[in-house]
Amino acid sequence: MNLLIIGAPGAGKGTMSELILNRYELVHVSTGDMLRAAVKNGTPVGLKAQGYMNRGELVPDEVIHDIIVERLSQDDVDAGFLFDGYPRTENQAVDLDEILKELDKKIDMVINLNIAEEELIKRITGRRLCPACGEIYNIYFNPPKEEGKCDKCGADLIQRKDDNLESLEVRLSEYHKNTQPVIEYYEKKDIVRHIDAAQAIEKVFEDISKELEGLCR
Ligand code: ADP
Ligand code: ADP
Ligand code: ZN
Repeated sequence: MNLLIIGAPGAGKGTMSELILNRYELVHVSTGDMLRAAVKNGTPVGLKAQGYMNRGELVPDEVIHDIIVERLSQDDVDAGFLFDGYPRTENQAVDLDEILKELDKKIDMVINLNIAEEELIKRITGRRLCPACGEIYNIYFNPPKEEGKCDKCGADLIQRKDDNLESLEVRLSEYHKNTQPVIEYYEKKDIVRHIDAAQAIEKVFEDISKELEGLCR
């Protein structure tokens, strides 16, 4: 089973990916996580991506193409994958189809997380992350038991550099301009499932689970 999860910044892609991966053995391919790791390690990809990411702009398609080809060349993806935050432009979606065709693979379902823009402000500004284990928190909606510390591993939580209002505005306009056409692209293939992402975390996951059960049957 090969899945794709798509939605505006802060819609809950990372949170839902973690819950999906607890239940299904899939390889998580998050271009955002891969790019952040590249920036942290100062790799050539990281150096190219850094400025765009800090401003909230999309990283050029060529850079994304290279990291995807490299990731899909590893054998573990044969078990099935979950793309999170990719493709984000129609050009990336067309490119992905070509890459997958070569590998004799296809996308089975696109999970689209729908949410009104005003809901995203607290999700983005309140987001905190564990740098050690990747757990995602929110100071308003999903706080850790002890302020600033990860429940799972005790590490000090961090805030993403781009999780501010200024960058959110740019990211939202990128989303409308570039990523909404991606949903239409998959809509034509009739594989998109629309999920109401404004509900509580458990309820959003329940709705996604129902769709996935339908796929596995
Ligand atoms: P969010 O949680 O806001 O949806 P991500 O973690 O997916 O953000 O991505 C963070 C940043 O990384 C984006 O604002 C963009 O600069 C870059 N990025 C991630 N994935 C892509 C992609 N597929 N294409 C272009 N840029 C990307
Ligand atoms: P994305 O990967 O789409 O940018 P995240 O999964 O990182 O989004 O979630 C963004 C923020 O919103 C995080 O702080 C997360 O804890 C919180 N969050 C995610 N889903 C929900 C939800 N259904 N209700 C309230 N807060 C949520
Ligand atoms: Zn942790």
